[in-house]
Amino acid sequence: MSLTYDPDTGLAPLEFAVTKNLAAKSPAERAELLAKPAFGTTFTDHMVHICWSLEHGWHRPSVLPYGKLSLDPAAAVLHYGQEIFEGIKAYRHADGSIHTFRPDQNGRRLQRSARRLALPELPVEHFIQSLREIIAVDGEWVPSGDDQSLYLRPFMFAREAFLGVRPAHKVAYYVIASPVGAYFKGGAKPVSIWLSEEYSRAGKGGTGAAKTGGNYAASLLPQAEAYEEGCDQVVFLDQDRNVEELGGMNVVFVYKDGTIVTPQSDSILEGITRDSLLQLAIDRGHKVVGRAISIDEWRQGVASGDIVEVFACGTAAVVAPIGELKGRDFIDEQPLGSLALSLREELTDIQYGRREDRHGWMLRLDA
Ligand code: PLP
Repeated sequence: MSLTYDPDTGLAPLEFAVTKNLAAKSPAERAELLAKPAFGTTFTDHMVHICWSLEHGWHRPSVLPYGKLSLDPAAAVLHYGQEIFEGIKAYRHADGSIHTFRPDQNGRRLQRSARRLALPELPVEHFIQSLREIIAVDGEWVPSGDDQSLYLRPFMFAREAFLGVRPAHKVAYYVIASPVGAYFKGGAKPVSIWLSEEYSRAGKGGTGAAKTGGNYAASLLPQAEAYEEGCDQVVFLDQDRNVEELGGMNVVFVYKDGTIVTPQSDSILEGITRDSLLQLAIDRGHKVVGRAISIDEWRQGVASGDIVEVFACGTAAVVAPIGELKGRDFIDEQPLGSLALSLREELTDIQYGRREDRHGWMLRLDA
């Protein structure tokens, strides 16, 4: 790779030292694994790694055989949870080429998460390069079936062995990759949602807007409660009983006049899927409003017929219509419309190269 500096950023591409995995899966083994990918259980042959230290900044970029990490038991991440991650997919188009969706947005969100968790900010150009590097060695792992993709999981954590409570001076960044199919069994069928009234996911001034493990750890007990109640997912409220989001997806409400409302607050993750679906809705002439929406407005809106559709969205599942909201003493059937699934189709058509990418969202990774 030539070391030409990017005129906009002054950054040279990193020079990754590549160590090939000598025990890489054979084409036959890989084909078997790709035949029915489940979410997040199978991983490709390689991973990307970049070191950061206070002294040297980002250094030693490498591509390594996928394998176990060796960590000091005093590594700060194991004690204080200083870590962040991203989730983004690589899609195979009909001509065999490999593309990803709005990686600049994930790169910027990783930077915002890093700021909140007092971790170093990886330049967006290097974030995108790290995705190219994993595709360069593991591109064969991008599946080509319906709704299939290679899920890329960049993550960063405090590696320094130090038990004092302060931002770590040594940090590791990795990218691993996992072939995936549809997230929910049954594809885009309506999901049931458990309303968590006892637990919250985030608080004012907290880390809700960052993609950090602690937020997900906080969601596990209420998510387990949701399963016990026979629901697929949990929805969280803030201290004013406004709707925040699900454990891993944003929520969107469609009103009968065509207006689309979605919660806006500092304590929820700004989803890239949501932003993109809302842009497609704006293109179709819908009015889109980001504002607080209380659980009472949701329930009353459904009861009165003002709300005609509710759906959840995120990279993993893309769009999931919400068919039922269940609380301690109620079950509200949710109205099902056609907007969620038609936006889902338009978005996935763009992602899989079946429709014009009029917003310039796609980036080819294998060329
Ligand atoms: N909210 C949470 C808590 C998430 O984990 C995610 C991730 O998928 C989202 C929302 C949706 O974000 P995105 O559309 O960028 O995947």
